Amino acid sequence: MTKPAIYLDNNATTKVDEAVCAEMLPYFCEFYGNPSSMHSFGGQVQRWVDQARKSLADLLGALPEEIVFTSCGTESNNTVIRSALEVFPKRRHIVTTKVEHPAVLNTCRNLTRRGYRVTEVGVDGEGRLDLGELRSAIDDDTAIVSVMSANNETGVVFPVEEVAAQAREKGALFHTDAVQAVGKIPIDLSGSGVDMLSLSGHKLHAPKGIGALYVRRGTPFRPFLIGGHQEKNRRAGTENAASIIALGKAAELAGEHIGEENTRVRELRDRLQRELTSRISHTRVNGGGTERLPNTLSISFEYVEGESILLLLDEKGICASSGSACTSGSLEPSHVLRAMGVPFTYAHGTIRFSLSRFTTSDEIDLVIRELPPIIERLRRISPFGREGGEAA
Ligand code: PLP
Repeated sequence: MTKPAIYLDNNATTKVDEAVCAEMLPYFCEFYGNPSSMHSFGGQVQRWVDQARKSLADLLGALPEEIVFTSCGTESNNTVIRSALEVFPKRRHIVTTKVEHPAVLNTCRNLTRRGYRVTEVGVDGEGRLDLGELRSAIDDDTAIVSVMSANNETGVVFPVEEVAAQAREKGALFHTDAVQAVGKIPIDLSGSGVDMLSLSGHKLHAPKGIGALYVRRGTPFRPFLIGGHQEKNRRAGTENAASIIALGKAAELAGEHIGEENTRVRELRDRLQRELTSRISHTRVNGGGTERLPNTLSISFEYVEGESILLLLDEKGICASSGSACTSGSLEPSHVLRAMGVPFTYAHGTIRFSLSRFTTSDEIDLVIRELPPIIERLRRISPFGREGGEAA
């Protein structure tokens, strides 16, 4: 590719902020000591790790001791679900939603093979959780309720506090997968009903392979990885000090930029949505009628294949996604769009644009210019296209 990429796939992963990269580099070749060592060469690293813990806690309105560093969002999600089942051995039921990331959904489905019961609560056409269905799903056998803070494909934001209250009424733990929400919308865990929360560094301009878990003080917890005493016995394994320090810096920067996410980035996303829906007929904005993350636009174009759109956008140097990063590669409409009941002819033509604080106005202008002729061209040659006369 000759042109620089216009990167609008930030829900898949983000660019590491250069300030974050600079912060972590000394911990590879210079300050490479083991934070658990008795000598001061290692011990000094522990101090930086704890500073990062404080920065992340501050972003979340949490206490430093409530933060456990992990390797990724997937590990955090696996850990909390398995932990809840261990601390409540008599409870054999999990409540989650049909639109969770596979890191929650497949963990739960896998547990059904070991005799656990799983209820996946549905969503409406806008991707909103059915709170009535959720209430009747939680019972005295429920160990954990796991509901994401915001959906990775549509950006739809869930009413986490209301769900947490419902879980608490039945004595179940409440976990939220906030991998997509952290850094994009304000989160304040002080005084909240959230028992546990997962996040991932690479979604907020830190590197891949670092995640964290918030475990509210006093919440019963069992570690997933057993071994040494790291992370106060909650996650064994020598700390990934450089990446933890990077995540701390990324959290500080996220706090500084969260206002911009909700003003400048939101305006860019809204302009992209407005212009595309007015220039292209037969479009549908998934989750457009409800509260969404400020950076996410899931838009469906009837009568075209999302993958074909992606390929033509790629030729123009524009990176987007046809669904979540984990489901692209399959031509099946994503489980999220299916759960929302998005008509098949639309679901197939879905593109997710996800912006970041590095997205510029010029880049959005370029997409607004390039995409309409791409859709027109694809509709002209589509055997299911309107011109083909076959689509309803
Ligand atoms: N949860 C959500 C909502 C996600 O979007 C992702 C990644 O796309 C994950 C969990 C997994 O995070 P990680 O890639 O750090 O394992």
